[in-house]
Amino acid sequence: MLKEDCLFCKIIEGKIPSTKVYEDDKMLVFKDIEPKAKVHLLAVPKDHFKLLADMNASQAELLKYMLEKIPSIAAENGCEKGFRLVINQGEDAGQSVFHLHIHILGGQTLPWE
Ligand code: AMP
Repeated sequence: MLKEDCLFCKIIEGKIPSTKVYEDDKMLVFKDIEPKAKVHLLAVPKDHFKLLADMNASQAELLKYMLEKIPSIAAENGCEKGFRLVINQGEDAGQSVFHLHIHILGGQTLPWE
């Protein structure tokens, strides 16, 4: 279910433009507007939920589906030599959009500090 005041739900609905790289009935992958690496994509489930902590059993299945899809989507978009996945949850992690999303970072050697 989509949520009216959610930025990523609006992107899923096409009300806010995005550069999509992959879409199916369950998930959307688009380019991050402020990339933190040469390749920076965001994978979002089409079912709105805020946090990993809120996830129910069917949403956990959806997350599994996304994780199975991500390696080939990443490879097709410049991450053939590897990538890093990040999920920010809550204030300490700096989460700014409260619709679960997976950051896909790559296209370069990534710093690890
Ligand atoms: P987080 O801090 O984990 O909540 O990540 C939110 C991400 O969404 C940030 O990396 C932002 O740069 C990105 N972002 C915000 N607005 C947009 C937008 N309109 N299109 C694409 N990415 C966005």
